[in-house]
Amino acid sequence: MRAVRFYGPQDVRVDFVAEPTCGAGQVKVRPAFVGICGTDVHEYLAGPILTPIKPHPLTQEHNPVTLGHEFSGEVTEIGEGVAGAKVGDRVAVLPILYDGTCDACLRGYINCCERLGAFGFTGWGGGLSESVVVPRSHIYLLPDQISLELGALIEPLSVAWHAVKSSPFNPGDSVLILGGGPIGISIIQVLKAQNAGHIIVSELSTERQALCTQFGANHVIDPREVDVVSKSYELCGGHGVDVVFDSAGVQSALDSGFRALRTGGTVVNIASWGGPVTINVMAMMVEEKKYMAVMTYVRRDFEEVIEAVAKGLLKPDRMITSRIKLEDVVERGFKELIEHKDKHLKILVETAL
Ligand SMILES: [Zn+2]
Repeated sequence: MRAVRFYGPQDVRVDFVAEPTCGAGQVKVRPAFVGICGTDVHEYLAGPILTPIKPHPLTQEHNPVTLGHEFSGEVTEIGEGVAGAKVGDRVAVLPILYDGTCDACLRGYINCCERLGAFGFTGWGGGLSESVVVPRSHIYLLPDQISLELGALIEPLSVAWHAVKSSPFNPGDSVLILGGGPIGISIIQVLKAQNAGHIIVSELSTERQALCTQFGANHVIDPREVDVVSKSYELCGGHGVDVVFDSAGVQSALDSGFRALRTGGTVVNIASWGGPVTINVMAMMVEEKKYMAVMTYVRRDFEEVIEAVAKGLLKPDRMITSRIKLEDVVERGFKELIEHKDKHLKILVETAL
């Protein structure tokens, strides 16, 4: 079967590999749609970062590993002893892999497992292939209302869902989002579904600014033209916002985020940073501002996102900006996202094409 595998920086190949066999407790899934994420692009450009160069503690596999962690598919085979799933089921796959035995896992932080892995990064295959075998516990049946295309968006939306849910956000709160890329726009949708007050977004790209507005941001600010801090105060009736979500990971944006925050407010980090960040702790202290960081999602987030999409509370259809073939994953996927990032929110690889 075909599989897209990572070998090294800017070396991703469509290989022919043996189809995996489906063991007890497992199901075989034929991926249908696979989203390409910023993390994939980062790995493509500068990896190996997440992909293992020596055997991964959970999977015991190392590069070349198959990529693709945001995916939906159809069940093609059921392993021995599997209940509650059958051939033909349409599913979204929970990609994170965890041991379930470490201190983090035992306390519910499966997303922070000491031996954390993921389909599509650390071995055991991934979505960018014609077949992948996963434990029964890693498939989520898609209700009829959710297409396989939207099924591939459950994973990225779960990141935003987890961020909002982990934060002190309450309905009616005003929010500033730093960065209007795929994560920022997912956060806009989750906040809309949870009845936020003002949703303000700070974003440089004019294309992305327009998308933020389409997805329901009330105010989209170009930080080069408008002062984010004074504008946030003005929009919120003279005080700052209740919560800032940082999906930009840029020092200057974080600085203005802190200053745009109301007394007692919280900055929530979802961004990946290349290095340490400077935070003015005294300025935080005198206004009891808080800083927290969130990591991917837990099972509950995945379940709640499926429910929210099925109910129409989240309508992510317009996030899909392109559909491409597996063979084109480098040229029309990774490279397109590097060269024309602002034109895209989510490129889906359609494995059947
Ligand atoms: Zn663990």
